[in-house]
Amino acid sequence: MEFDAVLLAPRRAAAVTQGYWLDRTINDELDAAVAACPDKLALTAVRVETGEVTRFTYAEMARLADRIAVGLTKLGVGKNDIVALQLPNWWQFTLTYLACSRIGAVLNPMMHIFRERELSFMLKHGEAKVIIVPKTFRGFDFETMVNGIKPTLPHLQHVVAVGAVDANGQPAANSFEALLTIPEWEKQADAQDILTRHRPGPDDVTQLIYTSGTTGEPKGVMHSANTVFANIVPYAKRLKLGADDTILMASPMAHQTGFMYGLIMPVILKSSVVLQDVWEAKKGIELINAEQVVFTMASTPFLTDLTNTVQSANTSVPSLKIFLCAGAPIPTALVEQARAVLGVKIVSAWGMSENGAVTTTRLDDPDERAFNTDGCPLPGVEVKVVDLDGHDVPHGTAGKLLVRSCSNFGGYLKRPHLNGTDEQGWFDTGDLARMDDQGYIRITGRSKDVIIRGGENIPVVEVENLLYRHPAVALAAVVPYPDERMGERACAVVVTKPGQTLDFDGMVSYLKDQKIAMQYIPEKLLVQESMPSTASGKIQKFKLREMLAEMTQQAKQ
Ligand code: ADP
Repeated sequence: MEFDAVLLAPRRAAAVTQGYWLDRTINDELDAAVAACPDKLALTAVRVETGEVTRFTYAEMARLADRIAVGLTKLGVGKNDIVALQLPNWWQFTLTYLACSRIGAVLNPMMHIFRERELSFMLKHGEAKVIIVPKTFRGFDFETMVNGIKPTLPHLQHVVAVGAVDANGQPAANSFEALLTIPEWEKQADAQDILTRHRPGPDDVTQLIYTSGTTGEPKGVMHSANTVFANIVPYAKRLKLGADDTILMASPMAHQTGFMYGLIMPVILKSSVVLQDVWEAKKGIELINAEQVVFTMASTPFLTDLTNTVQSANTSVPSLKIFLCAGAPIPTALVEQARAVLGVKIVSAWGMSENGAVTTTRLDDPDERAFNTDGCPLPGVEVKVVDLDGHDVPHGTAGKLLVRSCSNFGGYLKRPHLNGTDEQGWFDTGDLARMDDQGYIRITGRSKDVIIRGGENIPVVEVENLLYRHPAVALAAVVPYPDERMGERACAVVVTKPGQTLDFDGMVSYLKDQKIAMQYIPEKLLVQESMPSTASGKIQKFKLREMLAEMTQQAKQ
C-alpha cells in the first residue's frame, strides 16, 4: 500500500526543532523497556467471560512479538502491508501491533461491533492482506462473518481466528495459535534479518484507524510514530504518569483512546497495563483493587457505571488516583458525583482519532475546571474558536473549533481532499466549542453530523442512506435524543411514501439485513406526515432534535 500521508512532511522540520517529534518508534520503546526491566510485568489481560488471565513481562512480550512478526511474514505480510484486526481488548491485540511494528506492517484496528457492511468497506479500502478476528466473542462467530465476505475482497488472503479449534480440539490450521504463536518462528535462520530489515521509521504510517464519517463513508486516519508520540508523551507528563503507575484499559483499543493510552503509553512509560475485554463495573472495581491500578481513561458511561457501582456496593477504589473522562460530552453533575464518590482526581479531556486527546484539565486545577470545561491544550497544540468566516470569536462565544497540533494525523487514506487541514496547519474538527479567558474549552455541539452514543460515534449519513433505500421511505433523518447513561441515542424520523407504512420492528429487521453494526440501528422510530425543512428543502435537524428532547423530557415526567 502506498500511503498518501501528505500532512506529515511539511510539518517535520518545525516539529523536530521544537522537540515535539521525537523520532522514536514503538520498537525503540519496547527494546528500551526490555533492556531496562525485562522481568517487569508489562501486560495483564483479563477475559471477563471465561475468567482467563494472561500475563507478560517485557521480555516475554518482546519475544512473542518477534515470533508473531516472523509468522506474519510467512503469511505474506511485508512492509507497508495492512493487517486488519478486529479483536476486543485481548493480549493478541497488543502483541499483533508490536509484531507489525517489527516488520513495518501497518495495523488497522477495527471495533468488534462492526459487521459485514463496515468491514467490507474498510477491508476493501485499506486493501488488508490479513485480518485477525476472534473465533467467537460474546456468542458471535466472527470467523464465519469474515469468511462470508472474503470472496468480495480481492486483497484479503488470510482470515486468522483467535481460538479456532479443529474437530479434535486442537488449534485449527487458520488459528492465531497455529499460524503465529505456537511455531518457534523466531528460531528460524532468517528471523533476525526479517525482524530488523524493514523496521519502520518515525514518519512511516504505523496505524490506520477508521473514523465514522459525516460524508457517509468511514475515513481512514493515518498516524505515524511521530504524530502518536507527540500526543502521548506530553499527555503522560501532564498527568505525571510514570513507570510505577498501573493503567486499566477497559475502553476498546480499537478506538484511539485504548490504542494510545492502553497499548502504546504503557510501553513508553515502562509501566504495566491491565486489559479488560468486557466492561462490567463490578469487574473493573475488582481489577483496580487487585492490580493496584492508578490511572484509567474512558468515556462517560464507564465513569457513570463505576461511580454508581462503587456507591451501591459501598466499596472503594483507594489505589485509583486519576480517571480521565473523554470521548463524549461530559455532564457536570456526573463529574461532581464521581469526584465525591470515587475520591479520585477527575480529568476531563477532548480529542479525536485524528489527533488524540489534545485538551485536558490539569492535575492541580480546581475540581470545578473538570466539572465545567474539557481542558486546555497540551504542549504542541493550539486551539481556536472561529465563526463561519474563520474569524476568531470573543472568549465565551461558541464557534467552530480548530486545532493545530503536533499530533495531527498524516491524512485520510486515499482521500486527501477531505483532510480538513489548511495551509497553516489548522484542522477543522467538526466540533463546536467556546473558550474561556484562561484558554480552556468546552465542547458545545457538533457541526459534523454524528451521534455519540456513549463514546461510540454513529455515522448518521450512512444510516440515513440505508433508510432511503427502504421502499416505504420518502424522507429520513437520524437524530439524537438525550439519554442519561449513553448521553444520546439515535431516533429515525421518517416520512413514508403514499400508501406505505413502516414500523419499528420492520425498520430494525431491514437494517439488520443490511448487516450494519447493531449499535448503529436507531433505538426509536418516529413516522411523521412531513419534515421541518428550509426553503431549499433541507431537513431542519435542529428542529427535530428539539422536538425529540422535549418528548424525552415529557416521557420522564
Ligand atoms: P475516539 O476514537 O477517541 O472516540 P472519535 O474520533 O471517534 O474519537 O470521536 C471524536 C469525537 O468525540 C469528537 O470530535 C467529539 O465530537 C466527541 N468528543 C470527544 N471528547 C469530547 C468531550 N469531552 N465532550 C464532547 N464531545 C467529545
